[in-house]
Amino acid sequence: MKLTIHRGTNQIGGCITEIESDGYKVFIDFGEQLLGTDAKELSPIDGLTCGDVSKSALFITHYHGDHIGKICDTVNDLPIYVGKTALEIFKHIENRLSYIPDPNEAERHKRIVERIKTINTFEALQKVTIGEITVMPLFVDHSAFDAYMFVIEADNKRILHTGDFRGHGFRSKGLIPTLKAYAKDIDYIISEGTNIQRANDKIKTENELQKDFESYLQKYKYNFVLVSSTNIDRIFALYHVSKKAKRCFVCDDYQAKTLKIVSENHKQYTSFYDIDYEQNTDPAGRFFDLIRKGEKPFYFHEKLKSYLDRYGFCMLIRSNDAFKPLLEEYSKLNDTKIYYSMWDGYLDREKPAFNETLYDFLKPYEIEHMHTSGHADLETLKVVFETVEPKGGIIPIHTGAPEKFEEFFNKQVNIISLRDGEVFDVK
Ligand SMILES: [Zn+2]
Ligand SMILES: [Zn+2]
Repeated sequence: MKLTIHRGTNQIGGCITEIESDGYKVFIDFGEQLLGTDAKELSPIDGLTCGDVSKSALFITHYHGDHIGKICDTVNDLPIYVGKTALEIFKHIENRLSYIPDPNEAERHKRIVERIKTINTFEALQKVTIGEITVMPLFVDHSAFDAYMFVIEADNKRILHTGDFRGHGFRSKGLIPTLKAYAKDIDYIISEGTNIQRANDKIKTENELQKDFESYLQKYKYNFVLVSSTNIDRIFALYHVSKKAKRCFVCDDYQAKTLKIVSENHKQYTSFYDIDYEQNTDPAGRFFDLIRKGEKPFYFHEKLKSYLDRYGFCMLIRSNDAFKPLLEEYSKLNDTKIYYSMWDGYLDREKPAFNETLYDFLKPYEIEHMHTSGHADLETLKVVFETVEPKGGIIPIHTGAPEKFEEFFNKQVNIISLRDGEVFDVK
């Protein structure tokens, strides 16, 4: 078995992993590089972007753009595999993006929508075999819904690829038991290390964040939350908190559709994903979706407006003109709070990912920053490595500081620092 990290040994996002055995190839993730990383010219990759693909396949850990965004650069016949619900969400996002005003961008997303039609899906623990290689997905908690690690097996060798994951989400309780049950006898872990640079930062759990939101929603009547539309668990937590605080939960129809996809596929497993759409129940704490007609601002019919003013609300917003008049109106009231529930780097001029539209949108208002990371902290990495005890060692990826793995873990386990494109012989 041979292993190559084509990109991502020394950067966050845009990672591409190849595992080869007897001519068969499994690739893991093929996404965009994040803003601020030096654009690396990618040489053609045989079995992925060129050449014969009859003995290869691409597996995607989750729908974040830095993991899936480049699927249209693959050879057309290459089989691609994604989690079932993740694919439905991704399709919904891409459909929407294929109608944005920028014609080049719209065209790019239309191509992705076409490619999506050919994608295969998998479910947790369902093994997929590509010739000599077997891939088993293990469900993990991340800021993307339906995310996976993979156990890849061939030549009597077993690799655990972590994808992006964390130990402080609502569904992280299963992490260690899952690894104990299914990641036995592992030779190497290919591990993400996003947070290793800020190893001393105290990371809040999603549970703690939900409790903080709850006290704000009890206290403030009109609540606007700017949150990524695909940070599904955060949004469901907000829905439950709204219900408890008896505030109306409001979002646009695009967001509502995303939540419905999750609810329909997962409410039978946990009530956390069960949304009460019943329109005859008490309006306090009820779910409302806003229909947007063209580019016009949202219009509330009188009844809805009266509910919102009477019971207060938790409204998910986006930095566009549809929400602007609402913010203008309510921000003048003392009973209003505006929360920013995403990474603060987007609002930091010093950061390459600085988003001017977002910054200008929020600038007139006082903002409460309410967020926690989608990635594992140092302690979680440590426990994962102790649990799995890889015989050969750990290969860092998805990190800006691979050398820190050496600093923190070299007593515990062997660290193998590869360069992008270097072929590693798995013996
Ligand atoms: Zn990522
Ligand atoms: Zn991610």
